[in-house]
Amino acid sequence: AAFQSKTRTAEHYVQSVYNATEQRNPHQTEFLQAVKEIFDSLIPVFARQPQYMKHGILERLVEPEKVISFRVPWMDDHGNVQVNRGYRVQFNSALGPYKGGLRFHPSVNTSIIKFLGFEQTFKSSLTGQMIGGGKGGADFDPKGKSDMEIMRFCQNFMTELYEHIGPDVDVPAGDAGVNAKEIGYLFGQYKKMRGAFEAGVLTGKGLEYGGSLARKEATGYGLVYFVQEMLQANDLDFNGSTVIVSGSGNVSIHAMERAAEFGALVVACSDSNGFIYDESGIDLDAVKELKESGNERISAYIDKHPHAEYIEDYTQLWSIPSDIALPCATQNEIDAEAAESLLANGVKAIGEGANMPTTNEAINTFLDRHVLFAPAKAANAGGVAVSALEMAQNSSKLMWSFEQVDTQLHAIMKTIYQNCMQAAEDHDKPGNLVAGANIAGFIRVADAMMGQGII
Ligand code: GLU
Repeated sequence: AAFQSKTRTAEHYVQSVYNATEQRNPHQTEFLQAVKEIFDSLIPVFARQPQYMKHGILERLVEPEKVISFRVPWMDDHGNVQVNRGYRVQFNSALGPYKGGLRFHPSVNTSIIKFLGFEQTFKSSLTGQMIGGGKGGADFDPKGKSDMEIMRFCQNFMTELYEHIGPDVDVPAGDAGVNAKEIGYLFGQYKKMRGAFEAGVLTGKGLEYGGSLARKEATGYGLVYFVQEMLQANDLDFNGSTVIVSGSGNVSIHAMERAAEFGALVVACSDSNGFIYDESGIDLDAVKELKESGNERISAYIDKHPHAEYIEDYTQLWSIPSDIALPCATQNEIDAEAAESLLANGVKAIGEGANMPTTNEAINTFLDRHVLFAPAKAANAGGVAVSALEMAQNSSKLMWSFEQVDTQLHAIMKTIYQNCMQAAEDHDKPGNLVAGANIAGFIRVADAMMGQGII
C-alpha cells in the first residue's frame, strides 16, 4: 500500500511537470513527444527515489540551459542573397561539454532541435563518456546546392556560432545533411576566427586534421552491435535474417554494411522519394557510388540492377517481408499503420538508427506485441560515443587505429545494452529496453545534477 501511494505521488509529479512543459512550449510537437516518451518511463524511478523530485531534476531537464538562434545570410551562385535561420540548443552540461550534431534540413525549427537536444542528453549519458547534450542546425537545404554555396553557408553559420562553442564548452558534430565535408568547412572557419588549431571543437572531422578512424562508421556499426546483443539474448541473429533499412545516408549505409557482414540479407533501403527492393540483397557499392556522386537519386540503382524494383511510395517500405527493420532516415517514419504492416509481414525486431523514427503509439504497439525494440537513444549512441573517443584523441594529440576505436565501440554498445536491461529489471520492466534506456540515461544525469547543486 505504501508503495502504491508512492507510485501515485510519482505519477502526479510527472504529470504536473509534463503539463507545465506543454504550457510553456505550445506547438513544439516533436519536443513534447520526446518528453512524453521519456517521462512515462520515469514514474517507477521517482516512486523509488523521491529525492529527485525535491531537487527539481525533471523541471530543470526539460528547460535547455541556453537556446541560441541566429541569422545566416549567404550569397548563392547567382549573386542573390539568401537568409536561413541557425540554431544551437545547449541542453544539459551535467556530464560534460554540450555534445550533439548539427542538422541542415528545411524542416529544422525550434521544436525539432529541442527534441534532438533533449534526447541527446540521455544518449550521451548512456555512452558512459564525459559529454553533455546539445543540438543545432539550420533550415538550410543542402540538396541541389553547389560545393561553393555549401562552403559559404558553413562559413557564415560558423561566424555566428563561433563565440558559443569550444573544446570544453560545446562540441558540435554532424547529423542529417552535415557530413565530413561540411564539418571541414565549419572547422576551417572556426580555426580562422579563433586563431588557433583547437581540434576538439568539432567531431566527425577529416582524418588529416584530427578526425577519428571509425567515426564515419560508428552510428551504423554501433546500431548493429546493439541489435545483435538484443537478438542473441533472444535466440535470434543477424546471420540468416532478412533486413530492411530506411534511408541511404551515413547511418543506413554503415548499418547495411555491418548487418551484411554479420550474415544478414539486406533487401531494401530508401531516400526521401522512394525505396529500392532487391530480393537478392542490396549491392552496397552501387548505393555508395550513387550517394558519393552527389545529387543522384536512389532510383538510379535499377539502371545497374534491372532485376531490382524501385517503388516511389515510401510508406510501402514497411510492407516488405523482413525479420529485422532498421529505420535510419528521420523522425516519425514509423507510425501505428506502418507498425501494423511490419507486424503483418513478420518483423521480429526493430532497431532505431535515426532519432525518434517511431511514434509513441507505434512503440507501444511493438511492445504490446512482443517485438524486440531497440530505442534510438541507446541503439544509435555509437556515433556520439565515438565522437567522445575523437575528443579524447584530440586532447591527447594521438590517433588510434581503426581496430582500437571499433573494439571500444563494440564494448560500449554491449555495456549500454546490459545497463539498459539492468535498469529495466530493477524497475519492474524486465526486457523493456525503452524503459531501461530512459531510466539508465536519466539516473546518471540526475545524480550528476544533484552533485553539482541547483545551478
Ligand atoms: N548527430 C549524431 C547523433 O544523433 C551524433 C552526435 C555527435 O557525434 O555529437 O547522435
